[in-house]
Amino acid sequence: MSAAAAQFARVAGQTVSTDHLIGGERVAGRSRFETLSPIDGSVLAEVARGDAEDVARAVEAAHRAWPAWAALGPHGRAERLRRLADLIDSRVEELAAVECADMAMLLRSLRARVISRGARNFRAYAELAVAYEERDWRSNGTWNRVQRMASGPAAVITPWNAPFMLSTWKTAPALAAGCTVVLKPAEWSPLTCSLLGDLALEAGIEPGVFNVVQGIGEEAGAALAAHPLIRRASFTGSTGTARRIGAATAANLVPFTAELGGKNPLLVFADADLDAAARMAARQYDDSGQVCLSGTRLLVEASVREEFLERFDAAVAEHVLGDPRREETTVSPLIHPLHLERVAGFVERARDEGQRVLRGGRRLDDGWFFEPTLIEPTSNDAEIVQSEVFGPVLTIQAFAGEEEAVALANSTRYGLSGLLYTSSAGRAERIGRAVRAGTVWVNTFLVRDLTAPFGGIGDSGIGREGGDYALDFYSDLKTLQILEGSTR
Ligand code: NAD
Repeated sequence: MSAAAAQFARVAGQTVSTDHLIGGERVAGRSRFETLSPIDGSVLAEVARGDAEDVARAVEAAHRAWPAWAALGPHGRAERLRRLADLIDSRVEELAAVECADMAMLLRSLRARVISRGARNFRAYAELAVAYEERDWRSNGTWNRVQRMASGPAAVITPWNAPFMLSTWKTAPALAAGCTVVLKPAEWSPLTCSLLGDLALEAGIEPGVFNVVQGIGEEAGAALAAHPLIRRASFTGSTGTARRIGAATAANLVPFTAELGGKNPLLVFADADLDAAARMAARQYDDSGQVCLSGTRLLVEASVREEFLERFDAAVAEHVLGDPRREETTVSPLIHPLHLERVAGFVERARDEGQRVLRGGRRLDDGWFFEPTLIEPTSNDAEIVQSEVFGPVLTIQAFAGEEEAVALANSTRYGLSGLLYTSSAGRAERIGRAVRAGTVWVNTFLVRDLTAPFGGIGDSGIGREGGDYALDFYSDLKTLQILEGSTR
């Protein structure tokens, strides 16, 4: 272990360890990187910058802790995960304040639902693991039993948007299934994952079961994905990174699940409640559009395009760009100047190509903000239609009839989510089934039953998490066959 003194930062009134968490101990590592606050650009903390050696220590700690954690059984693990859920619920204010400073998600959403969803993830998986039964049956003169064995240390690599919640979404099923975890949080918002490490220890989760290695993707992330003792890898982030991690895990024959970006359609039919549809379309600018599930391609039936746009404009006019800690703010700043640059680049190229920028289209002079922007493409092949921007930029296209609507909806490489607005039950069923995406919401958005499968199609990901699908992923299934009558 490093001899350097443990390092902490004071963030939003909270003390946060900026070191790794390895085998239950804080480890400073050899170098540091800065994390900035999108609220005012200030340096929030100097965080440990993990290298291959730190990663190896963490994976070895997870490997050592795994047999005892697996042997605890579902009830023992569930008890600890429930305690962790309770601790998260009791610290919502602190966690929300730190995440708001580090990532600039709206404080009011963090307080009301995002942080407590982390607690729900642990509680849900505590229950699911206990209910997760082995199958038993007789055939061909034998007893058959399907046994589920915890796979071993799991690598969990997460993105900068909603870092706390997304890390718990993966960590909860891994731990519930009996795997141990090494988490590599994103370098642009690493702080609440560090707090999660403290809470896990406080909940009585044994040292080494849950480890956090901070650092840069190409360094700590790449070393973690490639480590030979890792038995499962679960990733949320961009498609390009997934290809790199997938190549590393494939070399070790390690199952890999990836939840990636999207270019999700929001379909509005003429028979829809247009007010609700327009308000929902305007909501896609919340958090500056840094939400993978956002419906960023507005596909509107041609006969109601003008009426829809009028209502959309009225809803967008209510947006307040500003400090995410303020109650009235609805659009927070972008995470990082480099990301702002990236978003601006998409819009600039769209303009240069002759796409029509109908609304917005410029960065603000103050802060890392980009105006809520609406673009009407001249071609469905345009980059602005086909590539994920991950910012406050929507496109609008008109369609005539169901066939064209579905063709447009399914015309990108992605398939993460779809939003559909219609008042017809038949259409909801037909279009809901025809849209190629991991999740389709009809007349609503972001409602999740944690037992339902979650994931993407095509460039939006591989594998499914949620419910038993995730427990299956973190387990090795074994068939045990015993000749009937041969044992007493
Ligand atoms: P990213 O791919 O740049 O980084 C994600 C994580 O991977 C980070 O922790 C990063 O450090 C790490 N990483 C980067 N390069 C690596 C490498 N070579 N090896 C191992 N790890 C590496 O993504 P991001 O910019 O942090 O997140 C935004 C993306 O995530 C968007 O595309 C968004 O749509 C997607 N996302 C998807 C979901 C979902 O559930 N489908 C949820 C949230 C975000």
